[in-house]
Amino acid sequence: MDRHQTTARVSVLLPLPLTGAYDYAVPEGWSPPGPGTIVRVPLGPREVVGVVWSSNPTGPAPPRLKPLLEYLPVPPLPGPLLAFIDWVARYTLSPPGSVLRMAISVLGAFQPPPAVEVVSRSPLPPPPRLTVARARVLAALEGHPFLRPADLAVTAEVSTGVIKAMVQAGLLTRAEFGEDDVPPPLTPDWRRGGPTLSPTQSHVAAALAQSIGGGYGTTLLCGVTGSGKTEVYFEAIAACLAAGQQALILLPEIALSAQWLERFEHRFGVAPQAWHSGLSGVERRTGWRRIARGEVPVVVGARSALFLPLGRLGLIVVDEEHDAAFKQEDGVLYQARDMAVVRGRLANAPVVLASATPSLETVTNVERGRYRRLDLPDRAGGASLPEVTVIDLRRHAPARGRYLSPPLEDAVRETLAAGDQALLFVNRRGYAPLTLCRACGHRFECRQCSALLVEHRLRRKLVCHHCGYSEPEPHACPACGATDALVAWGPGVERIAEEAAFLFSGARLEVMSSDLLADAKAARALVNRMAEREVDLLIGTQMIAKGHNFPHLTLVGIVDADLGLRGGDLRAGERSFQVLQQVAGRAGRAEKPGRVLLQTTDPANPVIQALAARDLDGFLAVEAEERLAANMPPYSRLVALIVSAATPEEADRLARSLARTAPRLPDVTVLGPAPAPMALLRGRHRRRLLVRAPKDVSIQPIITDWLTRAPATGSARITVDVDPYSFL
Ligand code: ADP
Ligand code: ZN
Repeated sequence: MDRHQTTARVSVLLPLPLTGAYDYAVPEGWSPPGPGTIVRVPLGPREVVGVVWSSNPTGPAPPRLKPLLEYLPVPPLPGPLLAFIDWVARYTLSPPGSVLRMAISVLGAFQPPPAVEVVSRSPLPPPPRLTVARARVLAALEGHPFLRPADLAVTAEVSTGVIKAMVQAGLLTRAEFGEDDVPPPLTPDWRRGGPTLSPTQSHVAAALAQSIGGGYGTTLLCGVTGSGKTEVYFEAIAACLAAGQQALILLPEIALSAQWLERFEHRFGVAPQAWHSGLSGVERRTGWRRIARGEVPVVVGARSALFLPLGRLGLIVVDEEHDAAFKQEDGVLYQARDMAVVRGRLANAPVVLASATPSLETVTNVERGRYRRLDLPDRAGGASLPEVTVIDLRRHAPARGRYLSPPLEDAVRETLAAGDQALLFVNRRGYAPLTLCRACGHRFECRQCSALLVEHRLRRKLVCHHCGYSEPEPHACPACGATDALVAWGPGVERIAEEAAFLFSGARLEVMSSDLLADAKAARALVNRMAEREVDLLIGTQMIAKGHNFPHLTLVGIVDADLGLRGGDLRAGERSFQVLQQVAGRAGRAEKPGRVLLQTTDPANPVIQALAARDLDGFLAVEAEERLAANMPPYSRLVALIVSAATPEEADRLARSLARTAPRLPDVTVLGPAPAPMALLRGRHRRRLLVRAPKDVSIQPIITDWLTRAPATGSARITVDVDPYSFL
């Protein structure tokens, strides 16, 4: 007889890059935890937070099991989220613990909530004479039993000093609450109606609303900018709320989406729960806990919101589904749009992918019958699409040292004279992409990357756009010592702003570029100034392309339409079409018709032609044909292996060893190794291999097996990127 008492054991996944889950003993007398339970466990000398992955692990029990230390006071992660974490780990070839880490990143949420300070109206009657500011504070408290001082200050538009003084004067009472005792925000009201939809819009809205509760299915919602995609999927959100389920909306640049948040609030009466890196610690903790408790009906967020513990998921919307920002390029490398579809499937919820310029991947999935496509062909409210005119720079050359051609200059002048707004788009930050010595030909390059330093004249620096390295603007050439021989080469947004300020003196001109704006708040303020017509001429990078609505903007000038086409990677044409189409879509959204002038040296290029004709499907057909002929995604699958090391020798050694042990299978092609285009990045030497396989080959086990044959040693590392978007 076995006299050992069998203790209950569970396997616990830890948020660390380990190969699997570890077993722990359930202390006697504890109720056995179900999968998803968040626990504290010992790990060597440390204590870590982990998640019960299986409550009856198979396989032999290790001889001495350490016990669980604590069940943490939050609800267990929902089952479909656990399945999702496993799925993402398998697909991206990441350790499951690294994926789990994204789901339990808010460690503070598992601690007992700290107290927060709130203030309320004092029960004493207010004195007869109040300062204006104090009266505003009391008015702002109408309808709120209490508020945090910071929130109250914002609502009442006073400084927190005013509130402090009112507490001292006895006009307000202070109290402390547990974070979670502050009542949750009001729930969005799905009964509030939106605008009266056009017949096509209502048809599409009804089709989306009907899919709520009907299980998984993915729909491409395709319509030009301003066709009402957002209004239409708001109807689906309303249906989801009416069914008592939760909706998750992913936006590529949530910190810049103030207009979206305002529209949501206008439509549903309250703000949704936002989820992005700009939240404060308290907002993250309380937000995560409320979501885990099932109290949050709508979450709008960046990629990371996919890993939130939403247990009653009834709808996922990915807006601007084509946007490259959905690909996470560090840590776990995943494509959030694709993973949103997986999350929807595992939660048995419908998924909506919205875009004016859908990705070829998504369009191909429609053609294969895997996704449904719904179209909104017209702009809402009778607004017409802007007319696109191509300016051939070879025939209309700008003056020497300038970048705006005479027709574009004239058009800006006309627009400003009519009291309308104009926008100039240059997809490059800084003043000039190259600084060159005319005397000896020296080019300023980054020491840690294979990249040119970009001049940022307003900051008086040369900056590397890849690693952030910067140096002061030089006065002399470091190679030959010549002074007055350095020239700036090529246009950046600052240089166009300089030219515009010279040409259109008197116009109120502003520049929108991420490095010139302190934070998302400054960006929102600029968007508001533009919307309020406090700016005549806006000059910006692709930051201006995103979803802003400027009713008085009637001219968009694309300064260099060829810029993105020269990148030369797989999706250069597609990305270029998307961003230019999106910028063009900023023009003429309201009653005023808009126009787009597009400067190019290559008017015959298919991307330029498709833009001029506004022919999305034509563009996609040409692009699809090329990819099919080249056997490239979405008609095959790519996996990139990036080798990096402290020395070129180490990088070469590992790259060669990978090449020697590469899988030899009929359908699987291995290209490389080759020095990466960025052969030096942040001081690491890089080599690339690219694997191509048919879509129906399960490539992950093949790669896993390969990596065991060529392990990384010393300073060398291998990064695996399944479905790569960046080819640097
Ligand atoms: P998209 O998301 O396709 O760019 P939006 O949903 O943002 O389009 O709609 C563009 C603008 O038109 C918004 O200001 C929106 O409120 C308005 N709009 C859309 N549909 C209607 C409608 N049926 N009636 C009135 N305004 C509408
Ligand atoms: Zn660099």
